[in-house]
Parts: sequence; C-alpha cells; structure tokens
Amino acid sequence: MIHHYLPSTKGAVAADPSALCIRGVVFDMDGTLATPMKEHLIRMRHEIGVPNGIRTLEYVETCLHGRARELAEKRILDIETEAMANMRVSPGLVDLLQFLHTHNIPTAIITRNNANSVSHFINNVVAEQPKEHLGFFGFDPIIDRSFKPTKPHPAGLLHISQKWGIPPHQLLMVGDHLDDLLCGLRAGSLTALLRYSDNSEFEAQAHIVVDRIDELVERLSSGFDADMSVAGHVDMAITTHAQTSA
Ligand SMILES: [Mg+2]
Repeated sequence: MIHHYLPSTKGAVAADPSALCIRGVVFDMDGTLATPMKEHLIRMRHEIGVPNGIRTLEYVETCLHGRARELAEKRILDIETEAMANMRVSPGLVDLLQFLHTHNIPTAIITRNNANSVSHFINNVVAEQPKEHLGFFGFDPIIDRSFKPTKPHPAGLLHISQKWGIPPHQLLMVGDHLDDLLCGLRAGSLTALLRYSDNSEFEAQAHIVVDRIDELVERLSSGFDADMSVAGHVDMAITTHAQTSA
C-alpha cells in the first residue's frame, strides 16, 4: 500500500491539516544529528558483559543489582563522557535544519543517551556553529533516557505528537538504528534511516533511506511515495536485531 506524501513546503498543503505531508521531524542524536559513536557502544557492552539479545540499559536495569549495577551505570557514564569529546555535527545537518526552520516545520530529539551528553551536544558542539546558523537548532522537546519507556517504545514520539498537536502519521522519525525506526513505526509515524556501511539491514523498516541527512530536503520539498507495508516487518525485526542495540 503506497501513500503519497505531498511537499511540506507548499502553503496550501501546509495550511490544510488533512493534507498528507510531513509537518514535524524528530531526530535520534548519536549517529543521526551527531557523528556515530558505535565503537563506544560496542566497548560499553563488552566491558559490562551484556549478553547478546538484550539492550544495554535494559540489561543493567533488570539483571544487575546493588554494587554491580552501580558500577555498570558508572561505566556507561564514563564511556559516554569519553565519546562526547569526539562528537561532531552530522554532515549536511545544517542545510536540513535551515530548510525545516524556513518552512516552520518543528524539530525534536529522542535519545537514549544521558542528559549530560545532550547538553554537551547543544551547548558545545552546536554552539561551535556559525552564529547565523544557531537559530536552526531549535529542538523542542528534547527527550533523553530519563523519559521512560525509552525507544523502541513509541511513548516519547507520541508525547511529542501530542505536544505539537500533529498526528503521528504526519511526523517523520529519523535515525540510524532499528530502535529509532521501530519507535516511529509503533507510533504510526513515517521513518527515515540514515544509512551507513553497517546498518543497511534496517532498510526494510524505513519509508525513506538516505546516505546523507540533507537528502531529506529533496524528499520533503518534492513529496514522496511511502510504502506503508514496512510496518509489517516490525515483529520479525525485534527478535532478529535486539542483540545489536545500544
Ligand atoms: Mg543513533
């Protein structure tokens, strides 16, 4: 089943709430807004001894107790702090955010990272951008892992939908990991995968696949066809890929 999404830029479409187009964009942070931190996530799993088939945070919160849990949580924070030093803005991001800003399309973040990493991204990494670009980075709300349940649960995205007064099917969830796409699909939103050499296996759960984030400008300004059958792969994907999650 194909749904045609109209350009998000045309005044008449944007003014008609029933017209099918993307009216808000929600981003994952690591690997999406910021350059990937994959090696840090792999090291984190290895050092904490997270078994395959379970997500890191889930493992720590449900399987570890007392001192072991304290140590694991500290290790996660330490590795995240190290990763922060290497954080950069994703190539092409400024062009996309400028486009969204120009067309009054709101933006938000849902990340499983901690509040310090998010603050670092906004207050240090983004702050290094030229002054005239800073106005494009108006993400609101920003949801970090203190908001439960975390991705792939759709609660964060549904919260944003409600806050903005935009129905989920008119929101685009952009990410580099299966859990971003599952979050989007479960909320009833469209999904875009930012593809790297090691995540193309998740293409089946994305309505849009791009290799650089500013390729979304073309899709949103020209309109695009979305194959709504991608939602049908969700259950299979959960069992196959849970072990690769952060
Ligand atoms: Mg990511």
